[in-house]
Amino acid sequence: MTPIIQFEKVTKRFGDVLAVDAVSLTINEGEFFALLGPSGCGKTTLLRMLAGFEVPSEGRILIDGKDVTLVPPNRRPVNMVFQSYAVFPHLSVLKNIEYGLKMEGVGSAERRARAEEALALVQLNGLGDRMPDAMSGGQRQRVALARALVKRPRVLLLDEPLSALDAKLREELRFELSRLQDKVGITFVMVTHDQDEALALATRCAVMSKGSLMQVASPSDLYEFPATRLVADFIGSVNLFQGRVLADESDHAIINLPEVGKQAWLEHGVGSSDTLDIWLAVRPEKIELHKRSNGEGPPELEGTPAGYNVIEGVIADIAYLGSESVYEVKVALADGGER
Ligand code: ADP
Ligand code: MG
Repeated sequence: MTPIIQFEKVTKRFGDVLAVDAVSLTINEGEFFALLGPSGCGKTTLLRMLAGFEVPSEGRILIDGKDVTLVPPNRRPVNMVFQSYAVFPHLSVLKNIEYGLKMEGVGSAERRARAEEALALVQLNGLGDRMPDAMSGGQRQRVALARALVKRPRVLLLDEPLSALDAKLREELRFELSRLQDKVGITFVMVTHDQDEALALATRCAVMSKGSLMQVASPSDLYEFPATRLVADFIGSVNLFQGRVLADESDHAIINLPEVGKQAWLEHGVGSSDTLDIWLAVRPEKIELHKRSNGEGPPELEGTPAGYNVIEGVIADIAYLGSESVYEVKVALADGGER
């Protein structure tokens, strides 16, 4: 793996606002990297510093090992696709795509050939003579993609590229972005607040909160091994229990759950050497519901000693979602309350 982008303790302040807080991050060549986090956490600012539209208050940015912190946007081997389709309304699709090459002094024959090639990449063959306002939102975003790709950047930056599209189109274009990246093989860095989008597309993903990186990992590691409560809660849905580690061995751990007056058995250690107070995060699909008949004891769970990992509750609500149903279960709290 060859690093292509390095952020070294990059900080950005706007007056009193700390938009990006000492971010260090390495992105490798050929990755589809996602920056994921809620609105206002600093994603766009980080991307704009990479593109050269903002100058960091502190820290350095390297591309291909070269310090580009103060290099202007047009001299960096990156290109950006914006959230709103930034196309010129008075130019045809082909002229829109050729525009950047013309600015670079590329001859007309080569311009045309490369623009046609870029159009084909985004599956708009034959639509070069259209005007942008005669196209759908999805098509215009493809034009914006072609316009960025035609310059053959080393890195393509995408700021919420699908967020202006409706749900169905968004899903369609999501697959296409993935196919496109496979085909052109260049590094993609995409900003999104949509976790489904990030998990579906990214090879690796950074979760941001309030200007800082919470965790950088593959989508499956973010989901299976969230580093913090915040990441567990932000990625997918999760049931969170306050817990205290009673035993922590390499092959199992026992967690006391004082809120529900029960104990949990984990088939691996938790390695919580610095604190015994933890959050136990349980994904909903890992929970089995067993109906209880009168006088019957708790069910036997495979791989778990009797008495652990069972909580009594009452189904309070069922939301039918087609391919799945979400059960809300009220469990008795140790202090007599309910949740
Ligand atoms: P995101 O893209 O994650 O929604 P941004 O990077 O746009 O977040 O913004 C991060 C923070 O920096 C926000 O509090 C935002 O209001 C602030 N901010 C961004 N750009 C500017 C600017 N040009 N001037 C002042 N504040 C800004
Ligand atoms: Mg943004």
